This record gives sequence, structure tokens and C-alpha cells, in this order.
Amino acid sequence: MIKHDPNCIFCKIVDGKIPSRKVYEDAQILAFHDISPWAPVHFLMIPKIHVPSMAQIEDEHAPLLGRMMALAPRLALQAGCLPYPDGGFRMVVNTGSHGGQEVHHLHLHVIGGPKPWLRGAIPPTAAGGAEV
Ligand code: AMP
Ligand code: ZN
Repeated sequence: MIKHDPNCIFCKIVDGKIPSRKVYEDAQILAFHDISPWAPVHFLMIPKIHVPSMAQIEDEHAPLLGRMMALAPRLALQAGCLPYPDGGFRMVVNTGSHGGQEVHHLHLHVIGGPKPWLRGAIPPTAAGGAEV
């Protein structure tokens, strides 16, 4: 599997060729705010290596995924999510067309913040407001 795809938008973000609002970075992982947020807090966590989706994950990736999962709660609090259990957040990994994946570089959505969210959790009409 290739570790870097020059045509991939998230590889370009890793390289700094496309700007992002960074939340966290280390040697293996980058986190940045989603450009089109569904909620008051919405950032993406990605491995720096190009893995297209969860469908390509193998045993060798387990430590990397484990680090992403273990890091997410701390970053969620730093980004403005309220503490568990009254606050909390949602972690989503869309995979493939039927999974709603649009960008084919594995990413973990971390979504939260005070409800009601304008988009995602409830329809905009029910929320009584416009979309973000
Ligand atoms: P998915 O549908 O799970 O593939 O989600 C892709 C996400 O990437 C969407 O929520 C987009 O808003 C987000 N996105 C696309 N381009 C950028 C970008 N340049 N910077 C930050 N987020 C992006
Ligand atoms: Zn990529």
C-alpha cells in the first residue's frame, strides 16, 4: 500500500500544501477542524500515512488506530466538548460509498459541543434554524 498519495487532499494537508486549522500533530497523527462542521465541535483525526479507509486496515495498523482513539477524548475536551457524562462527543469513521465516505484518506470525525446541533443530529427544519 502506498504511504502517500500526491492527489489526496488529506495527504496535501499533511504536507502543508493545503492549509488547515490544526488541533493536534505528532509524528504519526494530524488533527484539524472540519471545513464544513456539523456541530460546534467538529474536527478530523487522520494518520499521516495514506490509508484510504477502514477497509484497508490490517493488524499492523492497530497501534496507530489505538493511539488515535486514545487521543480523541483529550482533544475533544480541549476543542470545547463538555465532560462525560453530561457532555461527551461522537466518533465516526465513514467507510466506502455506502458508509458515506467522501474523502478517501482514513479519518475519524470527532463531533460534539452543546446541542441542538444545526446539522447532523436533527434536521435543520426541526432545529428551527438554517444550515451552517
Ligand atoms: P467523509 O464524508 O467522512 O469522507 O468526510 C470528509 C470530511 O472532510 C467532510 O466533513 C468535509 O467537510 C471535510 N473536508 C473536506 N475538505 C476539507 C479541508 N480542506 N479541510 C478540512 N476538512 C475538509
Ligand atoms: Zn492521503
